[in-house]
Amino acid sequence: MTNRTPLRAPAGERRLFRFPVLTDLDGSELAIHAHAVTGAADGPTLTLLSGVHGNEWFSHAVLRAVLAGTDPATLRGTLVVVPAANPYALRTVTRYSNDIQQVGFVNLNKAILRDTESITGRTGRVLVEQIVERSTHLLDFHPGPWGSTWGVVLYDATGPLSTASRELAVAFGMPYIQGEDAAVVFPNSVFDAATAAGVPSIGVEVGGLGFGFRSEDEWVARNVDGVRRVMASLGMLDEPVTSRSVTDVEVAWDLRPTYGGMLVPEITEERLLTATTEGELLGRLLSPVDLTVLEEYRSPGDGILLSVPRSHPVHPHNFGFVIGRTRRSTS
Ligand SMILES: [Zn+2]
Repeated sequence: MTNRTPLRAPAGERRLFRFPVLTDLDGSELAIHAHAVTGAADGPTLTLLSGVHGNEWFSHAVLRAVLAGTDPATLRGTLVVVPAANPYALRTVTRYSNDIQQVGFVNLNKAILRDTESITGRTGRVLVEQIVERSTHLLDFHPGPWGSTWGVVLYDATGPLSTASRELAVAFGMPYIQGEDAAVVFPNSVFDAATAAGVPSIGVEVGGLGFGFRSEDEWVARNVDGVRRVMASLGMLDEPVTSRSVTDVEVAWDLRPTYGGMLVPEITEERLLTATTEGELLGRLLSPVDLTVLEEYRSPGDGILLSVPRSHPVHPHNFGFVIGRTRRSTS
């Protein structure tokens, strides 16, 4: 049963909605909060979703700036902003929920509409019914957690909404976009729920935490600019959208630590979205115990750095370096 009532405030106003999910052991209520700014004139309902993973709070600065810069007097349609889509994971500031009765799907982005009884599953159900299905377009923010920064926009390249979703990705204005077969790569994700509801969507993976205000402020600005470009391209703002060149990329190499250790890059975050060549030393993994080098990371080939870390302690298979290359075909 899709809920087709658009989420909106009265015309020309702002509202904060609160959707209860459940009552926890200590009597506290888990709820999803959604800000809505509705323009005087009709238009799309664009939703900005953030915090599906509870440690990706970089986007809060983006959402604050977008809300502050959106004037209902000049807006067409409704801007919906959900800062904490997975409040149970935000409680612990972790990627997944500390949902101990949930045996398989503690990653909300793999649990949506799959299990609707656990804490994670019930969060997903409220998110889908109250937010996703009441939107016309959706941006799902997945910036890097602390220690990792990213620079791509993802879209579903094979589903029924691939054309409209790619248009959103292009409109966002980052130089590289990454099309995926979302039904295969991201089953039971926000992408999946949006497609089922007929809502074109993109995943925004731009920015990360722990790199200092100079870089982080720049990434916040790129996100805010991207959101405003999407709003303008949907006719929600009277702003010209200058076209930018966009290259379709795919992940060529995802270099992750085999062991736990101190991940120490040889490159700075300023190399994000720049070229790397085969053999370049990108970083090392040092033992925090005996201080030896456990592993070295070199570019296996020529490509573009889509994600880079800062130095920080990592567990095996944490994020390391992601290298993309131009996608051969965009079917
Ligand atoms: Zn994420």
